[in-house]
Amino acid sequence: MRIINHICDMQRWSEAQRVAGKKIAFVPTMGYLHEGHLSLVLKGKKQGDVVVVSIFVNPMQFNQQSDFDKYPRKDEQDRRMLEEVGTDVLFYPTAPEIYPEGFQTAVEVSKVADPLCGAFRPEHFRGVATVVAKLFNIVKPHVAVFGQKDFQQCVVIQQMVKDLNFDLEILPMPTIRESDGLAMSSRNARLSPAERHTSLSIARALNHAQEMVTEGERRAEIILKTVQEILTREGGVRVEYASLCHPETLEEVTQLSGPTLLAIAAWVGEVRLIDNRVLQ
Ligand code: AMP
Repeated sequence: MRIINHICDMQRWSEAQRVAGKKIAFVPTMGYLHEGHLSLVLKGKKQGDVVVVSIFVNPMQFNQQSDFDKYPRKDEQDRRMLEEVGTDVLFYPTAPEIYPEGFQTAVEVSKVADPLCGAFRPEHFRGVATVVAKLFNIVKPHVAVFGQKDFQQCVVIQQMVKDLNFDLEILPMPTIRESDGLAMSSRNARLSPAERHTSLSIARALNHAQEMVTEGERRAEIILKTVQEILTREGGVRVEYASLCHPETLEEVTQLSGPTLLAIAAWVGEVRLIDNRVLQ
């Protein structure tokens, strides 16, 4: 596996691949990798001739400096894991490389970035869209693989790709979970054993909502009331939002009439977790 730190070297490598007729698959990450990330890399390997993974903890998408500072990092292990699954290139830039002095441009997606996480983390998707646009220009991929664990992020990136005519395909991939249902996340490492147990209520709420829909419930208000009750039943969970919305527009629905996204963000102790399920 080749490790590339500089933008110009990355662009040169990608250009050479393109000239040689190779299809480039790309997986952007913030590191502290787990099987969820690796599932995206494996998908990238299937879709492309070469796969590039980036690790960059993007300061621009964190609302609070403390959240950025506390974001877990484990470089050596990440490298080993990426090597083991056959990553061709790890792009691993520094923050000043990505945001040099004088940097002053941002990408702002409106509507789909406004609800859910966007309502609670005002600058978040501006930071995400900006860094992903930059990474696309640096890595020049033909396909980019994203996880639906960050469902709104997938929608925002797809909107940006469409609106700004990026010549690439976005592949959204399903959420990989621990055996007990907890969605894998780099942030899980910050949960104490008790908090880890408490956080299972999120997957439980998502599953119960699906059961309600299967049994015929269509009223969003009733489903959300039960979801809130399951999340808060045992204490220790502070719900930031639980929302039912259209999976493409992310507009809130009051009555379910087709596949509907149930998206949850909740604080367990000091850790903010997100998860979702498209109710069928
Ligand atoms: P992150 O490092 O958290 O920014 O995530 C990098 C990519 O991995 C994003 O596209 C995430 O949606 C994806 N991802 C994170 N967790 C999971 C998971 N449990 N299953 C599938 N994809 C995931």
